[in-house]
Amino acid sequence: MPKVITRFAPSPTGFLHIGGARTALYNWLYARRHNGQFLLRIEDTDRKRSTDEAVAAILAGMSWLGLDCDGEAVSQYAQAERHKEVALKLLADGKAYRCYATSEELAELRSKARDEGKPFLGDVWRDKEPDAETAKRPYAIRIKMPREGEVTINDEVQGNVTVQNKELDDMILLRSDGTPTYMLAVVVDDHDMGVTHVIRGDDHLNNAFRQYQVYAAMGWSVPVFAHIPLIHGPDGKKLSKRHGALGVEEYAEMGFVPEAMRNYLLRLGWSHGDDEIISTQQAIEWFNLENVGRGPARFDFDKLDNLNAHYMRTMNSETILSLVKNELEIYTGDKLAEIEIQRLLAAMPSIAERAKRLPDVVEAASLYCNTRPLKLTEKASATLSGNGPMLVELAEKLLSVSSWKSDQIKEAIISYATAKELKLGKVMQPIRAALTGGLPSGDLTDLLEILGQQESYDRLLDQANT
Ligand code: GLU
Repeated sequence: MPKVITRFAPSPTGFLHIGGARTALYNWLYARRHNGQFLLRIEDTDRKRSTDEAVAAILAGMSWLGLDCDGEAVSQYAQAERHKEVALKLLADGKAYRCYATSEELAELRSKARDEGKPFLGDVWRDKEPDAETAKRPYAIRIKMPREGEVTINDEVQGNVTVQNKELDDMILLRSDGTPTYMLAVVVDDHDMGVTHVIRGDDHLNNAFRQYQVYAAMGWSVPVFAHIPLIHGPDGKKLSKRHGALGVEEYAEMGFVPEAMRNYLLRLGWSHGDDEIISTQQAIEWFNLENVGRGPARFDFDKLDNLNAHYMRTMNSETILSLVKNELEIYTGDKLAEIEIQRLLAAMPSIAERAKRLPDVVEAASLYCNTRPLKLTEKASATLSGNGPMLVELAEKLLSVSSWKSDQIKEAIISYATAKELKLGKVMQPIRAALTGGLPSGDLTDLLEILGQQESYDRLLDQANT
């Protein structure tokens, strides 16, 4: 089998949306699975709609997702001369012809065909020679589609799909201004780049039959096609802006981690038995086209959240801290000091346990930073109110704990509650409110241990006058 070469071929007209990201992922996985190559081609032939910002957003999105491509990204526009050369070759071989029709004439023919309920084939000039006057006019080059027979494409996802050739229009290859059409460019580029597998959205399935004829006319081998169903929103409708954020960078901003996003996108349209959690390494070993589903996949934020929570739990503390450090410093308004970093590293496993997205980590992590005096939630204020004297006594009691470990801290609190004949909750609640300001937190004595004796003492005293 020849070396597998896949490609991702986005048009740079906007951000890298979630459907494109999944297409890129499947191409990347397929190439990595077969020790092949994954190429990136920017389809920037449409000069009016293509922008540099969109190219940058696509590259940034792919890099965030960890989808590295082999070699430099190719610009389709830069190959325009080569596209033209192929159109001229087809013309010289009699497989294409000059079309002198103006856009007004074509519009008229198109509407006439519509009125007659016939397909518009664009073939007015197919078997016609121009007179001397017409021959001076600008012309487009159109492909001479076969009028008989049919083509069956054995699509790796859609199965065998057959189209009657007489339904195919004599599409334009080269416009009268000399620019190539997308339909020509995509075939020439895929051929020149040695692409063996074209894996893309099924909105391109119809194009495949037209593109097939360009391969056939040039005598080139046709790549394997795999057209993957589109992604729908949770309501079953085609995914659109209404369904929420769509650009990959927005998912990054919402606090999803790339591992979770890859796993989620993988499962969104592909399955391996009942497995839900599939690491990237495992995905590279397992990915195939047979198990891409034929029905549209539905986007589901809860699933993505659950996967994100899973991947955050499995990350080591240093990694999570590095992911939230910037945001955390913005949140607390200060650079992290060494002592805060130490506390955060100790607390991270329990923070990650309770977080779904990175912003949850930021909020919970802020508890371990030097942000005294803490801002109180209403509930925390209410809990603290009237408990000033007790907080002072507790602060002193805790200052006398000789070994600052969770067990000893707990003992000291219990002994205080017993001496005062108070229920443990009556003592714990104000301590928690003073230490957290009301933010959700895990085990209280673990929190005290990680905060350290002095910081805990100071936080208790800060609230003694409430
Ligand atoms: N540039 C096309 C798009 O963004 C993709 C073409 C292809 O994959 O063949 O939809």
